[in-house]
Amino acid sequence: MVQSAVLGFPRMGALRDLKKATEAYWADKISQEDLIAEGKRLRLAHWKIQKDAGVDVIPSNDFSFYDQVLDHIQLFTATPERYASQKLNILDEYFAMARGRQRAGVDVPSMEMVKWFDSNYHYTKPSFSDSQTFALAKDAKPVREFLEAKEAGFITRPVLLGPVSFLALGKTERGHSVEPISLLSKLVPVYVELLKALKAAGADSVQIDEPVLVFDLKPEIKAAFKPAYEALGAAGPELTVATYFGDIVHNIDAVSAFSGLHALHVDLVRNPEQLETVIKALGPKQTLSLGVVDGRNIWKNDFSKSLKIIDSAASALGKDRIIIATSSSLLHVPHTLASEKKLPEEVYAWFSFAVEKVKEVAILAKAATEGPASVQAELDANAAAQKSRAESKRTNNPEVKDRLAKITPDLYNRKSGFDTRYAQQRTHLNLPLFPTTTIGSFPQTQEIRVQRNKFTKGEITEEQYDAFIRKEIDYAIQVQDELGLDVYVHGEPERNDMVQYFGERMEGYVFTTHAWVQSYGSRCVRPPIIVGDISRPAPMTVKESKYAASISKKPMKGMLTGPVTCLRWSFPRNDVHQSVQAMQLALALRDEVVDLEKNGIYVIQVDEPALREGLPLRSGKEREAYLEWAVNSFKLSTAGVEDSTQIHSHFCYSEFQDFFHAIAALDADVLSIENSRSDAKLLKVFIDEAYPRHIGPGVYDIHTSRIPPEEEIKQRISEMLQYLRPEQLWINPDCGLKTRTWEQVKPALTHLVDAAKYFREQY
Ligand code: GLN
Ligand code: ZN
Repeated sequence: MVQSAVLGFPRMGALRDLKKATEAYWADKISQEDLIAEGKRLRLAHWKIQKDAGVDVIPSNDFSFYDQVLDHIQLFTATPERYASQKLNILDEYFAMARGRQRAGVDVPSMEMVKWFDSNYHYTKPSFSDSQTFALAKDAKPVREFLEAKEAGFITRPVLLGPVSFLALGKTERGHSVEPISLLSKLVPVYVELLKALKAAGADSVQIDEPVLVFDLKPEIKAAFKPAYEALGAAGPELTVATYFGDIVHNIDAVSAFSGLHALHVDLVRNPEQLETVIKALGPKQTLSLGVVDGRNIWKNDFSKSLKIIDSAASALGKDRIIIATSSSLLHVPHTLASEKKLPEEVYAWFSFAVEKVKEVAILAKAATEGPASVQAELDANAAAQKSRAESKRTNNPEVKDRLAKITPDLYNRKSGFDTRYAQQRTHLNLPLFPTTTIGSFPQTQEIRVQRNKFTKGEITEEQYDAFIRKEIDYAIQVQDELGLDVYVHGEPERNDMVQYFGERMEGYVFTTHAWVQSYGSRCVRPPIIVGDISRPAPMTVKESKYAASISKKPMKGMLTGPVTCLRWSFPRNDVHQSVQAMQLALALRDEVVDLEKNGIYVIQVDEPALREGLPLRSGKEREAYLEWAVNSFKLSTAGVEDSTQIHSHFCYSEFQDFFHAIAALDADVLSIENSRSDAKLLKVFIDEAYPRHIGPGVYDIHTSRIPPEEEIKQRISEMLQYLRPEQLWINPDCGLKTRTWEQVKPALTHLVDAAKYFREQY
């Protein structure tokens, strides 16, 4: 019999129940017992969904109150001393690591949080000290949750993050020098103890995630698998090592054919081509778990395509050596399609969220076990849905396809090189040395949210809402006049979100009402969905920018979200390559850029904060290919303007070392980058590479309410001048100011402007 398996289920619940409960607990509105009870209720509900769907292998320990990596830090008593020494109860210690704690005499910052592979989920980075020890926590969570499920009648497969990934994804504590992977021999005995405890509790099978296998691994990390899994394999439960978000062909020798390994799981949505190599590498008794149902995207599975993959694996290995599974945990997709009431009718048949995906896994396993006839009705319905999507007008826009086919390389390039452009921009814009500007948004006040909500609900008319927005813009301009900034922004009061706002104004997108995905802790995002060819029926930002320019004394900067960021912060299509989607977005944005220019906007910023996170996980060909289309799509979107129009771009990070050439290739006249929390030394790359254009490294952190003193900003600027020529340097904050209040923004920007004036007098 071919089994079905789920690698992990979203934790939030249909209505973001977990978010509500944890936030209520943090605000002292519910007790710890209430929160724990809510966690239990959600786990039971999620196990039941999977069991009712007919899934054979249901995960446990995939639940988390904040983050699964953080769970493991506590599980192995790897809590850094600064938290452990607070003697908090176990859950409060956990949340202190997650989000810091500032109450009752305790004042600790949060641990570092970083992106989980190339997803938008963030995990807490384990941090190891020179005297690091590990011990299995009392009342170990995986055992407790396994028993909880068992008592409720669910036999589950506990999920653990493997020891090599746990160490490799961690870092060395500041001021220490230990190499995390060197701690393996201390950590492995704790895993062995845990596996024995799970076995004693009745767990015959355990899923151990080793997602670092998709990276290019340093030799010492690759070599760590063998000793670790020989020890773990002997501990009792059958082990399935799970990998996802990439292929493992380059690391297959690190894991295949170990006596300790019962099964290997691979992501066949991302990398179906790895199947053959992986099959060949397996030992004679090992099972292959086929990740064919996409854990990262919302599309309905194409059963006929999956069954082909399943058939080829079954004929090579035999039916009892394959498992049908989700490609990764379903953590990255929303809970259920059933919550969506407002989607266009036809698209319901195209989507599957977590609840629907667990059914797909079960159906595929049944088809593989008993033959397609056993699920004929489901297969027919699925084929009809695929056909309706492929043929829909919503998917296909011949005009867009045609325009895309006619793109010629000259469309990527500005009319002239930077020197000629800059000479024209200088006279046209008449900017001083060290020009000051902001990154786009001004405070999104409570009042703005209230009015937007009223407008969405139809409680105020479009005219009323527009008048309100104009008033907000008036205020932003007045403040900028008072501050004496050099390049103005309109403040983005009309924008709910930097991607959604544009998506709502383009054809080819749909929006959900409940499709939330965990980003970190209790924070969820609701990405729009790209369903078809993208076009721009009408200008998207001209009205607001033009109005703002009409009442400003200084140049007004138009503000757009770039093609790569629009793509990365949406659920993309899976029927055409991402490069095609990026180019379509770029064409729509190009028209917007040209329209802004026609309407008197001569400085235009195209934000690309997501450019870096789209970098493929491995270096080499795939990364080069990504950078080529990502850069071209940015250039396509911006190159339609005259030399005298200045193109800006913005990035929320400052680590450019590994892809500096791509940033340079964007050919933006001005780059603004987040920099205030980084060492100014990172800017050295701009001299080393003789970067010719202009740069505004952020001079103050906008993530906190702290107001930067003028002296501190001056200090930052003089550090920057060690690496940048004075005529290259712009003065701006790290990022947009939407999360700040006006009371914070005004003094901070006053200091910024005064610091710029000070340096202007020096040069
Ligand atoms: N223009 C956007 C803003 O100011 C940029 C946001 C971002 O980079 N994430 O909010
Ligand atoms: Zn930013």
